Amino acid sequence: MKFALHKTKTMEKKPKRTDVNKLGEFGLIDHLTNSHQCINPSTLKGIGDDAAVLDYGGQPIIVSTDMLLEGIHFDLMYTPLKHLGYKSVVVNLSDICAMNALPLQITVSIAISNRFSVEALEELYSGIFAACRNYNVDLVGGDTNSSKKGLIISVTAIGTGAREKISYRNGAKPGDILCVTGDLGASYLGLQLLEREKQIWQSNPGIQPDLEDQTYLIGRQLKPEARTDMVLSFEKGGFNPTSMIDISDGLASEIHHICKNSGTGAIIEEALVPMKDETQLMALKFKLDPITCALSGGEDYELLFTASEKDLPFIRSLPGISIIGEIRPPEEGIQLKTVNGNFHEITAQGWQHNQ
Ligand code: ADP
Ligand code: MG
Repeated sequence: MKFALHKTKTMEKKPKRTDVNKLGEFGLIDHLTNSHQCINPSTLKGIGDDAAVLDYGGQPIIVSTDMLLEGIHFDLMYTPLKHLGYKSVVVNLSDICAMNALPLQITVSIAISNRFSVEALEELYSGIFAACRNYNVDLVGGDTNSSKKGLIISVTAIGTGAREKISYRNGAKPGDILCVTGDLGASYLGLQLLEREKQIWQSNPGIQPDLEDQTYLIGRQLKPEARTDMVLSFEKGGFNPTSMIDISDGLASEIHHICKNSGTGAIIEEALVPMKDETQLMALKFKLDPITCALSGGEDYELLFTASEKDLPFIRSLPGISIIGEIRPPEEGIQLKTVNGNFHEITAQGWQHNQ
């Protein structure tokens, strides 16, 4: 008997194809990894926080990795390579800080096209080394590859912290106060300024960029810092956040991570969200709502954390911390109380009118 080798068209089963956009970044990570069970007792925390936590019997080791791609995360038209090197280290150190731990080592992997000269890569590494010096971290390895197009930088940061001090995303409790370090929204507006000047320059290369002396806003975008100083201040004060995350994607996205992981709701008061005057003014110049820049802008690399009420005096005594709201029971959702006293649900992207 002969087997039919060719199925008719109607019998052919179309392979399933789901667009990755359907899941979004976090949905995709979850979809791909949720069936994975960590089997080693040394894995204290696997996927799902700012960094993994490993314990080989001494002080826990904290590990985090982040990749920066040309054209997606940076634009070399307005990003000096030295700044890029510095930033690619800092964004990783920030994830170690988010665990209430301190970074000690990094590895750096790069993929380069033939567009990059040795001198250009020396510039990149001068920024990487500047970050190493500023944060007392050692570059201990990496990998070098060629890329067909564009520059790719992947950094892994390794650090440590006392086991009982490590702060996860899942420890917030209703009644905890919600705090943020520094100020928000500036990096996003720095990016808007750089993008605006790029577009003007592209349509008329003779025109010199007019960055309006906005060194603060542009500096926050091109040369962010990781808040190791805050981790040290917390340690000095004997304070442990009940939960913590760094603000890489924007306050809205990060509060969602804390609430989802902790099984809570939250309320954020618009009037209490720290923003510099120059950030607010620039937002208005761009016809943007300042609070939207803080909620959805991202790349501030500040720390969003929660603290139990008993720690209120310490929090109040520490400069550079703003109390922006409170953790609430889950049924209350995640709300923004506007300056007018209205309540709006905060979505992971920002906030939308209830009606
Ligand atoms: P962050 O914004 O703090 O850097 P991410 O949103 O990038 O964190 O990642 C969230 C969690 O998912 C982290 O624990 C990270 O290690 C993990 N993760 C991200 N991408 C992958 C992947 N492709 N495979 C496994 N784990 C991943
Ligand atoms: Mg993070």
